[in-house]
Amino acid sequence: MFRFSLDFIAIILAKNIFYEKEIEIKMNEVKQPKKPLVYYYGIVMLLMMLFNFLAVPWFMQRQVKEVDYGTFMEMVENKEIGSVQIQEDQNQIVFTDKENTKVYKTGMLNDPGIVERLYNSGAKFSGEIIEQASPFLNLLVTWVLPLVIFIGLGQFMSKKIMNKAGGPNSMMFNMGKSNAKIYVKSSDGIKFDDVEGVDEAEESLQEIVDYLHNPDKYREIGASMPKGVLLVGPPGTGKTMLAKAVAGEANVPFFSMSGSEFVEMFVGMGASKVRDLFKQAKEKAPCIIFIDEIDAIGKKRDGNIGGNDEREQTLNQLLTEMDGFEGNSGVIILAASNRPESLDPALTRPGRFDRRVPVELPDLKGREAILRVHAKKIKFSDDVDFAQVARMASGASGAELANIVNEAALRAVRDGRKFATQADLEESIEVVIAGYQKKNSLLTDKEKMIVAYHEIGHALVAAMQTNSAPVQKITIVPRTSGALGYTMQVDEGNHYLMSKEEIENKIATYTGGRAAEQLAVGSVSTGAANDIEQATRLARAMITRYGMSDEFGMVALETVTNQYLGGDTALSCSADTAAKIDVEVNDIVKKAHMKAMQILKDNIEKLHELAAFLLEKETITGEEFMDILNKDTADNL
Ligand code: ADP
Repeated sequence: MFRFSLDFIAIILAKNIFYEKEIEIKMNEVKQPKKPLVYYYGIVMLLMMLFNFLAVPWFMQRQVKEVDYGTFMEMVENKEIGSVQIQEDQNQIVFTDKENTKVYKTGMLNDPGIVERLYNSGAKFSGEIIEQASPFLNLLVTWVLPLVIFIGLGQFMSKKIMNKAGGPNSMMFNMGKSNAKIYVKSSDGIKFDDVEGVDEAEESLQEIVDYLHNPDKYREIGASMPKGVLLVGPPGTGKTMLAKAVAGEANVPFFSMSGSEFVEMFVGMGASKVRDLFKQAKEKAPCIIFIDEIDAIGKKRDGNIGGNDEREQTLNQLLTEMDGFEGNSGVIILAASNRPESLDPALTRPGRFDRRVPVELPDLKGREAILRVHAKKIKFSDDVDFAQVARMASGASGAELANIVNEAALRAVRDGRKFATQADLEESIEVVIAGYQKKNSLLTDKEKMIVAYHEIGHALVAAMQTNSAPVQKITIVPRTSGALGYTMQVDEGNHYLMSKEEIENKIATYTGGRAAEQLAVGSVSTGAANDIEQATRLARAMITRYGMSDEFGMVALETVTNQYLGGDTALSCSADTAAKIDVEVNDIVKKAHMKAMQILKDNIEKLHELAAFLLEKETITGEEFMDILNKDTADNL
């Protein structure tokens, strides 16, 4: 295993970096953000308000001519006034000429006899003087114009909506449409050659490609293809890539959708999307439908009242659709999930997803092949040893390896070089796992010394136990992840099994850091937090899952709940047994700690010498470490 004793702050984080889901770059065009209807209504309201407050009074104002009081008196004298209105609140008099064609206004003065004089002049006292002045204009401004604006806007909006309904992104009319992305085969499409380290999965999918090329060969004999193939495995192992490779090789349309895209706000929409997707697929058959993260809709339906109606309806529709077409119709459904145990049994039963293809983390050979595939795009110096890098990156997924290669290229650019080297790759493994080096570390000399002893403690205990893998590198340069130092161990080959002794040795190695601190500094620090966690987890697994305890024997006391996502476990035993497990776990770790102490006590001089060397150099290789260790042994002989 790619084991790190990352000290002083737990670095579970590294796994999170590893397992972060790659964001798929979608091949369809960028969508314009949709504007809700309310947006258009808002604009109409605003326009109407502006019109009422500004335009109408402006129209009115424009018709009225302002004159002085003298002119008004003159017109009264000459009996030239048609209608008149005294607007006391606005302190003005509005009046028209005899023919009622022009409107005038003037300011009011303290003129007590004016009403009588107006009356005598034959003027009419009117309420709505403007209306009388220009009834046609008035009608136009207050009735016709708003109507025209409304109708115009209505036309514009309905046209917009209808246009959208025809296009792929309709807001209202497209709610039940699948909007699946269709990948059309292109010359640079993904092929099986691009996906490495998953040979078994590839073989299984090759048959599907063959079927899509020659369906008759299968029909003749009466064989039918599985309707659905479920790709399961940890994140970043190439499930999506494999599905795309099937489409690339088979040269058929490829509908891709993520499980979560089916789930809408409205109940029933997801189901309608499923219907639409299958309808499109049947029209385009032979073709491939790929549903990524199918657990988003395919979760087990539980008996709880008030479950997720939308999700269940979508799942039901999917089940119905899968039953609805014949095995030989040419539509193959691929789905990917990293939580297969959470899928509804109805979905995984034969006749639906009949074939389950595990896509596991790559082994040593696979890792090397993946590194080589990704390195093709990058200029590397000739002496790069990919096998060595693959050994160092044990436990890494395809996505992580791709990231490591890219980080190496970035590092080369940063250094102003034209090609990347082995050192770039090795450094980028550490960057991907532990973060960048912290240049301005604020560690005191004492802290540095503690870290050096701690790391040498791990390495020494590991080296002294025959079954432990050799130490690759020890460093006390702090990393941005919070690790103040670490010891990297590298396995020489693939390891599929671990014996009880190997696990015990491993736990002892974990406790070696703390033991060294105790021996050299005489006190303990917070630095062992991550070691303690790892050691406890291993010891617990020995008892509850691996049947390695004398007391319980081969009884499963814990079950793994999500195998591919961190491997969380759930206890399945009585409280009494749980208490006994705790005691046993404690015993195992204590014994390992004592063993580590003993090893270090026996080699206390080497511990001091190596720690001093590490403190001076900050980073030492496994070879330098072994040289010092063996030199002493040779001298002693
Ligand atoms: P998954 O769907 O399993 O989470 P992806 O197929 O999306 O993972 O892989 C993400 C990226 O990781 C890919 O684009 C590719 O660059 C890289 N990758 C993952 N697995 C492999 C592999 N087996 N061979 C080559 N590249 C891989």
